[in-house]
Amino acid sequence: MTDAAFPLLRADVSTLPRYVPGRPAPDDLVDKLSSNENPYPPLPSVIRAVEAELGRLNRYPDPAATVLRDELAAVLGVPAGHLVLGTGSVGITQHLVAAAAGPGDEVLFGWRSFEAYPLLTWAAGATPVEIPLRGEAYDLDAIAAAVTDRTRAVFICNPNNPTGTAVRRAALERFLDRVPRRVLVVVDEAYREFVDDAEVPDGIDLYRDRPNVAVLRTFSKAYGLATLRVGFAVAHPRVAAALRACAVPFGVSGPAQAAAVASLRAGAELAERVADLVAERARVTAGLRTAGYEVPESQANFVWLRLGSRTAGFTEACEAAGLMVRPFGDEGVRITIGAPDANDRLLKTASHRQR
Ligand SMILES: *Cc1c(COP(=O)(O)O)cnc(C)c1O
Repeated sequence: MTDAAFPLLRADVSTLPRYVPGRPAPDDLVDKLSSNENPYPPLPSVIRAVEAELGRLNRYPDPAATVLRDELAAVLGVPAGHLVLGTGSVGITQHLVAAAAGPGDEVLFGWRSFEAYPLLTWAAGATPVEIPLRGEAYDLDAIAAAVTDRTRAVFICNPNNPTGTAVRRAALERFLDRVPRRVLVVVDEAYREFVDDAEVPDGIDLYRDRPNVAVLRTFSKAYGLATLRVGFAVAHPRVAAALRACAVPFGVSGPAQAAAVASLRAGAELAERVADLVAERARVTAGLRTAGYEVPESQANFVWLRLGSRTAGFTEACEAAGLMVRPFGDEGVRITIGAPDANDRLLKTASHRQR
């Protein structure tokens, strides 16, 4: 067929890089430690809340997610008008980038970091600028130095996916004081609930008197609702309004809203699970270090091994042990903290390879 038989599309879209998800787990694979999911199934109260929604699938959901928004506002201690719910925090990220940047504009972030940042920046027609990590962590001085007149947004992934490292309060405040207020700074806290270092700031404290700071959170990781696609931004009214203007109407489904509300109400129970995973993170980190691996201090629900050319071999050994981990080219492997027995097998496999 000739080109005339096809619709005209944006020329740059056909060359966009694609998001490469973790491979689906094969049937005989025992544990998936490749997508930073919560290993625990939903709480019974959450399942009941979703079931109660199933008889209403013919109806559109509440477009403003009012009940969820109001309960979340109370839990976080922010005005409801500063909250924007979306289809996962990736959905919100897309709307934030679209609201802030277009052709000719730059979006900055550390690298390696979350793959969605460059993809969604390209998709908006803007230009991603990747600032290399330093010592596996965001190099805030280098990012501040890279801000230009064309910079519209900066992503700070805290803690960073895939390295697990977090920037601390003093460094982040110094950075925010240095960056011009016309630049939107998005603090992506997808793993905030797993942070146990008191020096790692809560983005919600930082955004309060800085109108250019927006915070991203999600129900996918600590709350264990990855499949339902619900996340949110906390932002000042002008940014929040722009986000709503760019959002897909009815983005957050009824079951997702109900599950998120039920999860907030089960906060204490879920916090126990998070505490268990944080304890397992310490155990896995210590075990890997004892086996001779260099493991950056993680504040998330995963650990990072910069294995270089050993990445593929390590990944295959894990698969042979029924464990799926997440390789990144020949850079390294990200390993999600799973249930204790999966972590045991991971430690066994990893220490075997060092012998
Ligand atoms: C997992 C993750 C998200 C959230 O994803 P959603 O499921 O879309 O809420 C956001 N940012 C980072 C850095 C992540 O790792």
